[in-house]
Amino acid sequence: MNSDFFDNFYDVIVLGGGAAGLMAAATAGARGRSVLVIEVSNKLGKKILMSGGGKCNFTNLEVKAEHFISSNPHFVKSALSQYSNWDFIGLVAGHGIEYHEKDHGQLFCDNSSKDILNLLINECEAVEVKFRLDTLIEQVKQVDTGFSLSGPSVNYKCESLIVATGGLSIPTLGGVEKKPLEPETHDMLLEIYRSDILALQDLLGRDLGHWLKASEA
Ligand SMILES: Cc1cc2nc3c(=O)[nH]c(=O)nc-3n(C[C@H](O)[C@H](O)[C@H](O)COP(=O)(O)OP(=O)(O)OC[C@H]3O[C@@H](n4cnc5c(N)ncnc54)[C@H](O)[C@@H]3O)c2cc1C
Repeated sequence: MNSDFFDNFYDVIVLGGGAAGLMAAATAGARGRSVLVIEVSNKLGKKILMSGGGKCNFTNLEVKAEHFISSNPHFVKSALSQYSNWDFIGLVAGHGIEYHEKDHGQLFCDNSSKDILNLLINECEAVEVKFRLDTLIEQVKQVDTGFSLSGPSVNYKCESLIVATGGLSIPTLGGVEKKPLEPETHDMLLEIYRSDILALQDLLGRDLGHWLKASEA
């Protein structure tokens, strides 16, 4: 669905403008969808800027599923088979970002983590992703056409929603510490995830019970 004419409706809304949100937004935009990234703080990718001591260890030469601690190892296998460390290294090189290897195949920017943030923002802008900073979303509701999102004085609707609100490691880097999603919203998103997995299970005719189990962890 193309929705450019309706300002607060997007095909895809991404909640959170960190590394995960920006990558997801660029990918959705490249698929021709109208995309809005909503970020509660005044800046995108704050955590990226401080990563790797300011030089961002953006990936490693050796990245395998067994290197990840996960209650759902199959998810990691599937994700890496679709987008590997080499895909990202190619993207970094394509943007002319210079990097070097440190111990154990860790790759860091020569210049600054800002190069990685700029890469992600440029990838988003190339596919016309829109950004809305200083915007807190407190409530998400499922509606007939997708999702309705609201916060103080804002209201958006979208067909698909990606929640990439990150972790709580450093409160000053984002608003999650003070204002988590409401428990009802969290439960609702989990419920949608479970029903999507069940639908996918039917579609593929394969047992995806391990993905359901991961959501119970
Ligand atoms: C000091 C430090 C060094 C690190 N170094 C490295 C490294 O070298 N290499 C590496 O791979 N990893 C590193 N990491 C980890 C890495 O930075 C994180 O794993 C990664 O940035 C997480 O990205 P994210 O998009 O999942 O979450 P985040 O970066 O946390 O992004 C989530 C975003 O969502 C926003 N948000 C939250 N709630 C809402 C809401 N309700 N409405 C709107 N917006 C919301 C937040 O403000 C935030 O901007 C480091 C982390 C730290 C703290």
